[in-house]
Amino acid sequence: MVLSVPKNILSIQPYSPGKPIEELEREYGISDSIKLASNENPLGPSPKAVEAIQEVVTKLNRYPDGSAYYLRQKLSQILNVPPESIILGNGSDEIIGMLAAAFLQTGAEVILPHSSFLMYDIVVRSAGATPVYVPLKSLTIDLQGIFERISSKTRMLFLTNPHNPTGTIISKKDFEEFLNRVPPEMIVVVDEAYIEFAREKICAKSLQYFNNIRNLVTLRTFSKAYGLAGIRIGYGIMPEEITGILNRIRQPFNVNTLAQIGAMAALDDDGFLKKTLEITHHGLDSLYDSLDTLGIKYFPSQTNFFLIDVQKNADQVFEQLLQEGVIVRSMTSYGFPEYIRVNVGLPEENVRFIKALGKILYKV
Ligand SMILES: *Cc1c(COP(=O)(O)O)cnc(C)c1O
Repeated sequence: MVLSVPKNILSIQPYSPGKPIEELEREYGISDSIKLASNENPLGPSPKAVEAIQEVVTKLNRYPDGSAYYLRQKLSQILNVPPESIILGNGSDEIIGMLAAAFLQTGAEVILPHSSFLMYDIVVRSAGATPVYVPLKSLTIDLQGIFERISSKTRMLFLTNPHNPTGTIISKKDFEEFLNRVPPEMIVVVDEAYIEFAREKICAKSLQYFNNIRNLVTLRTFSKAYGLAGIRIGYGIMPEEITGILNRIRQPFNVNTLAQIGAMAALDDDGFLKKTLEITHHGLDSLYDSLDTLGIKYFPSQTNFFLIDVQKNADQVFEQLLQEGVIVRSMTSYGFPEYIRVNVGLPEENVRFIKALGKILYKV
């Protein structure tokens, strides 16, 4: 077979998601394992969302509402932005893809912190554009470094706040200074997938700077704090001119009915969100305490996950944890060959993780 594949597509490393629990259990001959690898909500989905989804399944013969009218209305009220400035996606991943497809072409440059969420690189390369990497500084996005790499070819830049995989934040002050310096035609994308978890008061919230003049895009998701990763729904807030462009290429029914209904119900489930934040913050604090006791180095985080410096080959530690039935993420592919990333689980899962890690690192 002779395939002609564009060079930019061949330059893409396929995204490797954490394997599903079932597959790993089969592969390793283990059972009863726990997954702390994909920053998912350990409490499950919002119960109100589950109920609403169950009610609507009998209507699945109908196409979804292609404009997500009611969900956009609801978000508009909660966020205090016009519904026309909101776009829904099949996960915020889809919106990241739409931004690249709509605004990038061969020759364009996109500035990305390194390392960061691997999807940015994939969509930029898919569009034939060139990623320009700016290394993190002390695990934090280097805004000055990013500013210095802006050229006449730069069309877009991605910031993640709080950052994945490090859990660090951009402060309000730094973000404001940055926005005042970047050329207004540049599209600044701020991916706030974990913003609900941030406890630091100084953490920048990009919506505060939203207006119809500035090319600022805020991305949010229902996958983490709302526990709806499996149903795929996220959203973006941006000037109406940008939603107008994205709507030209958006598939008409990109967000399915279950996702729209589930997300609406999840937004009404304040109790679930509160419980999620409580279990996350309490879990982080108790994991930090345990690691302090064991003398294991880690990096405190403003998200629902954090990095641990295992001071040896992270892929090996990942494998050893798997043998113990604990699934985490090795950070080798993110450029940290001695770090693992672990997300907060249920209290008993956190305890099991600490036991397994202690056993592996200290043979205790
Ligand atoms: C999890 C995550 C998302 C969310 O993606 P969805 O497609 O909405 O599930 C987006 N950005 C980052 C940095 C993430 O970690």
